[in-house]
Amino acid sequence: MKKYIAVFDIGTTAVKGVLIDQQARITGEYGVNVDTYYGENGEVEQNPADWWEGMKEITQKWWSELNMEAEQVAAITFTGQMEDVILISPAYPSQRAMLYSDNRFEQEAAYIMERFPNIQAETGNIIRPSTPLAKLLWMKNNKEKMMEKTQCFVFSSKDFGIYKLTNTCVTDPTTAATTGIMNLHTRAWIPEMMETFGFDPNKLPKLRGSEEIVGYVSASAMEETGFLQNTPVLCGSGDAGATAMGAAAVHQGDTYFYLGTTGWTAMVQENVNSNIQGMFHLAHIVPHLTISIAPLLNAGNVHKWAVDTFASEDTDDKNSAFEELVKNASVGSNGIFFLPYIHGERFPVQDADAKGAFWGIGPKTSKKDMARAVMEGICFSYKQLMELIIDAGDKDFLTLMGGGSKSATWCQILADIIGVQVRVPADSEYMPALGISVPAFIQLGWADHYQAVLERFFITAEAKTYEPNMLHHELYEEIYETYLKMYPSLKRIYERR
Ligand code: ADP
Repeated sequence: MKKYIAVFDIGTTAVKGVLIDQQARITGEYGVNVDTYYGENGEVEQNPADWWEGMKEITQKWWSELNMEAEQVAAITFTGQMEDVILISPAYPSQRAMLYSDNRFEQEAAYIMERFPNIQAETGNIIRPSTPLAKLLWMKNNKEKMMEKTQCFVFSSKDFGIYKLTNTCVTDPTTAATTGIMNLHTRAWIPEMMETFGFDPNKLPKLRGSEEIVGYVSASAMEETGFLQNTPVLCGSGDAGATAMGAAAVHQGDTYFYLGTTGWTAMVQENVNSNIQGMFHLAHIVPHLTISIAPLLNAGNVHKWAVDTFASEDTDDKNSAFEELVKNASVGSNGIFFLPYIHGERFPVQDADAKGAFWGIGPKTSKKDMARAVMEGICFSYKQLMELIIDAGDKDFLTLMGGGSKSATWCQILADIIGVQVRVPADSEYMPALGISVPAFIQLGWADHYQAVLERFFITAEAKTYEPNMLHHELYEEIYETYLKMYPSLKRIYERR
């Protein structure tokens, strides 16, 4: 009997594969790490062949270690990183993909914005130095021959996985919304955007819904992966769409936040409100909805810096050692404030030159105060971001995902600072994979509509909850007023340099 949906989540650190059954239970979780190449000129790239090798390694484990049968796989679907530019080009098979974090294309972005100053009204977003259209323009100016010989461009690692299985070039509206080429309201490509800059619009992938069957496993892909030939392959969605679905965020105002290497708060909206500078607006998997994302550059990466800096060297588990330090410090960190902008910031302030800072150090300040101040500073930054986009007071709870949610102390500080219950879903790491299985449930006839799957398996799913301590919340409200003064005050110092 066909009882599993095979899901690949092709992220930046790893390709993950899972099998999801009709009760939305997960088995066969395997991950294969992927290298990122950082070039001298700021290139951030991955080799798509590594994604494919990762997929093959995972399928081999399903068949050999778990004794799964390929016949048990009813369909294959995908999620993955977006805002990439990946060439489907037999002439250049080892050309690396330019990743979302490859930010070199400032000039090209500025040029496109000059030509199309009102582009945001159509696409929902301004053209940024990371936007795929800016990357394509750079390629045209610097790698013209390679452009000419390219059969098709795709914009998510998952699109590449689909191509390898089926030989079709497709993408989904969530991914396409990051490219600068899709009309967010009609969910169609804007051919003028391609033609104006001399690109062939026929080289764009076909736009397909997440639940659509976009092809079937080819004979050669069967040879390499062990999937049965003609197993249906669905379009899936870029990771932001899959995560929204996994968080069961499918109604106006539904919000969740992500605390990973970087962080973001996402909100579901029926109409795009693009007045807030710095936000991204993407297509939701549900056709009439959009996802508005406020991104934070400084999140888990700042926590990691603090762990490396403050946790004892004499331990194998630095995260736990750091957690102990934080737990033993008092609420408010003994008067220490921390501004977390160690990587510059893009929300709630847009300032690539911003820096991190401690304030309030006195003779009695200890390491544990500084450690806790870092955690509190990151949470204040989330609070500031959230205040710009939602009214947290209206919410019964907020869903938190990402690696940072493994720290109970951090989750509690966040709940105390925001003053709202924080919920961490049990399978937080596999949320995007679970989320993208939802459209597959519909396609396979395992459910009639999204809401049915979400209600049956997701909304009541196990979660860890953190109730705010309202005494701590009141204290944090006062401290927050001082935190808010830090960035404007410090900016005055370096602006005069
Ligand atoms: P990515 O966004 O790259 O997919 P993750 O969601 O795995 O990454 O999040 C990575 C971050 O999670 C790290 O930078 C770290 O701050 C945090 N993290 C991971 N494990 C723990 C832990 N045990 N305790 C606290 N924080 C953790």
